[in-house]
Amino acid sequence: MSDQRSDIGLIGLAVMGQNLVLNIESRGFAVSVYNRTATVTDDFIARHPGKRLTGCTSLQALVASLARPRKLMMMVKAGAAVDAVIEQLIPLLEAGDIVIDGGNSLYSDTERRDARLAGLGLRFVGAGVSGGEEGARKGPSIMPGGSASSWVEMRPIFEAIAAKVDGAPCVRHIGPGGAGHYVKMIHNGIEYGDMQLICEAYSLLQAAGLSTDQMAGVFERWNEGELQSYLIQITAKALAQQDPETGLPVVDLILDKAGQKGTGQWTQLNAAENAVVISTINAAVEARVLSSQKARRVVASKLLEGPQGPTPRSTIDIDALVAQVHDALYASKIVSYAQGLDLMQTMSDKRQWALDLGGIASIWRGGCIIRARFLNRISEAYAADPKMGNLMLAPFFQQVLNRSQLAWRSVVALAVSQGIPVPAFSASLAYYDSLRSARLPANLLQAQRDFFGAHTYERVDKPAGQWFHTDWPEVIG
Ligand code: NAP
Repeated sequence: MSDQRSDIGLIGLAVMGQNLVLNIESRGFAVSVYNRTATVTDDFIARHPGKRLTGCTSLQALVASLARPRKLMMMVKAGAAVDAVIEQLIPLLEAGDIVIDGGNSLYSDTERRDARLAGLGLRFVGAGVSGGEEGARKGPSIMPGGSASSWVEMRPIFEAIAAKVDGAPCVRHIGPGGAGHYVKMIHNGIEYGDMQLICEAYSLLQAAGLSTDQMAGVFERWNEGELQSYLIQITAKALAQQDPETGLPVVDLILDKAGQKGTGQWTQLNAAENAVVISTINAAVEARVLSSQKARRVVASKLLEGPQGPTPRSTIDIDALVAQVHDALYASKIVSYAQGLDLMQTMSDKRQWALDLGGIASIWRGGCIIRARFLNRISEAYAADPKMGNLMLAPFFQQVLNRSQLAWRSVVALAVSQGIPVPAFSASLAYYDSLRSARLPANLLQAQRDFFGAHTYERVDKPAGQWFHTDWPEVIG
């Protein structure tokens, strides 16, 4: 080991860890690395000669190799592994040292770890890191939580390694405790929504008779307009990809079963706990769950009836349909983001995190999976009105939704009439219509509740806060 101490230590040399180390080193920092399985460390060091890397075979050696205050970033499997590493580190550290968890940890775990380390005089940063392998290597979007003092220490490294958009690094201090991992969780929930909405657009275009090549062209064109985003871009590329073995489009050969890992479900649970509607994200998570039940779907496909095949292509104006699906996708995406932002605002108020939602949208513009042109519009909307209640009511988004709603309805109606499942498109439209309904049928719901449980109700013709009960007829003889 050289006399020169490293700027940061990284623990966990799997895909994310290795790429992050190479990114940090490439920005001029010296990095010490450690992996539980030592051969992984040796192999990594051997594959990257001539770089400012120090391989360590123990956590003691790793800690000893670092400049003070020591900065130790974990990129290990989320869950028990994070606790195991923290417990091994604690006896080796000094007051003021900083432990960073860059994995996809549940924010409440981060809060627990933050409190434990703070009690020992140590600093903890739960940092959401988005962008997968490529992002980690070339520049991710980083969402660090934790104390303001740890942000001051980590900022130079984080800003150096983060993706840049218009010269601005895609990282900012999100808030105290678990706020960083919380925002990363919502990011992932929104990612579920974006992906499912794109899949529903694909499903409709496919049912209308477009070939995968034609659909690749549609997504490529969409990527030049308002929908411009990483996910639309990779969708175009994925659709255009041919299987070398069969010459068929790869997507046609991929089994239609998708799993769902922690973050989508965590977002659902958090929304339920806070009574916030995130129906688009819920539909997306549930669509994955149903997709995974392939055997059950195959059986049902033979027993449950639907329309007799899609409308023949000759009766459809393809260009008009493509334009309508575009608008339905854009409008649904706005609803999905509005719901995700609503949930973040609710948690921010509850936990006093003071989340800067416009700033968060701005650091999602680069590096991460949901990077998209329209995030600029979200930042602009919050800049114009920081206390904005619902994204859908911001002038720009209002206008897009009003302009798109007829096409959106046509697309959902077409899908329903053709038996094409569009759970996220229709959930988004139902949210839109519910939100714009000054009167919902909850009056009847209140009558039912008062009928069977004497729950009482307020009246439209009496001041709010006065509660009434009706003596309903008896129905059980
Ligand atoms: P991973 O498969 O989640 O984790 C593997 C790493 O964890 C290995 O270095 C492994 O060491 C280490 N590990 C597991 N249990 C351990 C324990 N008890 N003690 C010490 N080390 C332990 O790796 P990953 O895919 O690179 O992801 C790392 C983190 O980033 C995860 O939280 C993941 O969710 C998050 N993340 C991943 C992506 C992605 O695209 N992959 C994107 C964003 C965020 P050994 O080699 O000894 O087994």
